[in-house]
Amino acid sequence: MISHAKTALEQALIDGPSFQDFATLLEIKELVARLETNMSKGRERYELEELGASAGTSRRILRRAAHEWPSDVSVEHQDVILSALERLSSNSDRRDEIYQQGAEAARETSVKHTHEFVKKLVREENEHLAKDPFEAYHQRRFRLRSQDEHGGCSFHGYAPAKTAALLKALLDRAFHSEEGKEQQPRNVEQRNLDAFDQVLQWASSDRIVTTGHASLVVSVHDSDTFDWRTKFGTNVGIDLNLFDLANLSGDRISDYIVVHEQNGAVKNLVTAERTANFLIRIALLARDFVCQHPGCAEPASRCDAHHIVPWSRGGPTSINNLGFLCRKHHRRNDDSHVGQHMDIDDGIPWWINKNGTPKRNNSPGAKRAGGRKRDPD
Ligand SMILES: [Zn+2]
Repeated sequence: MISHAKTALEQALIDGPSFQDFATLLEIKELVARLETNMSKGRERYELEELGASAGTSRRILRRAAHEWPSDVSVEHQDVILSALERLSSNSDRRDEIYQQGAEAARETSVKHTHEFVKKLVREENEHLAKDPFEAYHQRRFRLRSQDEHGGCSFHGYAPAKTAALLKALLDRAFHSEEGKEQQPRNVEQRNLDAFDQVLQWASSDRIVTTGHASLVVSVHDSDTFDWRTKFGTNVGIDLNLFDLANLSGDRISDYIVVHEQNGAVKNLVTAERTANFLIRIALLARDFVCQHPGCAEPASRCDAHHIVPWSRGGPTSINNLGFLCRKHHRRNDDSHVGQHMDIDDGIPWWINKNGTPKRNNSPGAKRAGGRKRDPD
């Protein structure tokens, strides 16, 4: 019977099918997926491969065969749910529950959203089950593959938060250092690699540096609970735990600053080199944490310290005349203060919109700033 269907489809290819049949064709695809899954139950992967299925296809089919598959969940949805579940810790007893939630989402949202949703559930469950503060450290890996025909090498890896935060701080710094240079148009991934190359050049140069190339700033509050699950925000948007902090503060290569602060005031600084600009940036971080445009969450390492009264008109470089703005929102700021612009009132930055209404940045990112932890609004 299936060979009849094959003949019919081959004939349709010759006849030139009408677009009217497109929906039916999708239904056939769905049927084929269900059939191949049923046929493969109890089979070994090599058996499917011997019949011509690729390694990846065999794996996907067998994964489906090993699970329940409700009739109203499409094959694409089913595959992304099962793929996300592969990362679930083997200690979890909530596998079925997470699957059910995924299947429910699949009935209502796109494949992409279902995938993101199940990945999020798996991440939360793994985080909840995590017993080992060094899990990410144990899983660390980096691999530089051998050269391909063009001479280039690909690499991939996994870094614990400490390493990731350091790398991110350096990459963001490298991004900034090349702004204004004439460059051929590059996509984001090319820019990332160029920044990475810049970081490597710094690392291999013998230039003596006292303050490091990157600033990694951590905001710590007196009332934070000090157990290893506590996450401390940083200027690069990667959270660190106590072990990461302890690990970093012994290092002298970059400026790792721990800001212990209460009610927004800077209480204690640990720094390699103290310069006025540097201290101002730290105080700004403690106060602002991210771009201060309402709704924005761009981390401080990607922001400019914007002069509210322009420097060219005598505005001082002081904490009461500065606020973080990302590139996009910095461009929107009207320095003449006629259109939308940033203003400061009693030490707090506000965004004044076109109608003159002041608005504060209440994004979740902004509210993580040390100075706003007790903020009621
Ligand atoms: Zn912004």
